[in-house]
Amino acid sequence: MSYRFFHSQPPVDDRFQLASDQAHHAINVMRYREGDRIVIFDGFGREHDALIETLSKKKLTAKRLETRQFDRSLSRSITIVVALPKGDRQKFLIEKLVELGVTKLIPLATSRSVAEVTPKAIERIEKQIIEASKQCGRNFLMQIASPSSIPQLCNLPDADVLGDQTSDQAETLTAIPNLNVLPKPTAEPLLKLMAHPYDSKVLSDVALESTQPVAIAIGPEGGFSDSEVTQLSESGWQPVSLGPTILRIETAAIAAATIFGIGKHVSAAP
Ligand code: SAM
Repeated sequence: MSYRFFHSQPPVDDRFQLASDQAHHAINVMRYREGDRIVIFDGFGREHDALIETLSKKKLTAKRLETRQFDRSLSRSITIVVALPKGDRQKFLIEKLVELGVTKLIPLATSRSVAEVTPKAIERIEKQIIEASKQCGRNFLMQIASPSSIPQLCNLPDADVLGDQTSDQAETLTAIPNLNVLPKPTAEPLLKLMAHPYDSKVLSDVALESTQPVAIAIGPEGGFSDSEVTQLSESGWQPVSLGPTILRIETAAIAAATIFGIGKHVSAAP
């Protein structure tokens, strides 16, 4: 796969002008030159082969050669609702969730959470999502929702918990004829789970038994409080165990994403 760059806007006169951070990466890190071919993806399912026409310090213009609608997503929508860890552990978690094809991330604020998810933190996470998508070949970006407290999560309609690979914005980005982003049918109801150590129900059994879209809530290092467990289960979040040992937050989230991601994929990657 050629090196990929992110640019959410459609081409103008069949040309892309990459944002300065993407151009800097192409010019100063990857050492691309005029005449080199690159791939540009828009985060809404499209990827374009393009030819670099002009380069200057932090400016890169590329001519569109060919556009494809190529979906490397999983057949099941996966939402991870998680009390994020801090620092490098948070960065690692975001990268792995993108690689594993998680559709949506909802940061969770619990009574024992340690990381405050400020608007600045969301901005940083969005950049990490783009970088991981460049590397792993995802053409739809993992969605990131605003942080939710437990009561907010319990009141969220399923449609807002569910990760969906379409967006209103995608409609406005269709400047290339005959390439519309088609909504994926999500006929099955959302399965809502809460990772809860020592529960008798095991997550891998649930994953094998169903093909439903899934959301799984993972608690903080100190675990969910009893009252949080009660609130979640009374709102339809079923407790499930991930095995006999206690996993750190990121291990639990990655394991859940992996187990639910196994299965039939939408399309084979080239
Ligand atoms: N002492 C805490 C407890 O008993 O809940 C441990 C918290 S653990 C480090 C962080 C989160 O990962 C938990 O709140 C839970 O959601 C999830 N988790 C970790 N190990 C798990 C397991 N074996 N089964 C289910 N969930 C697990």
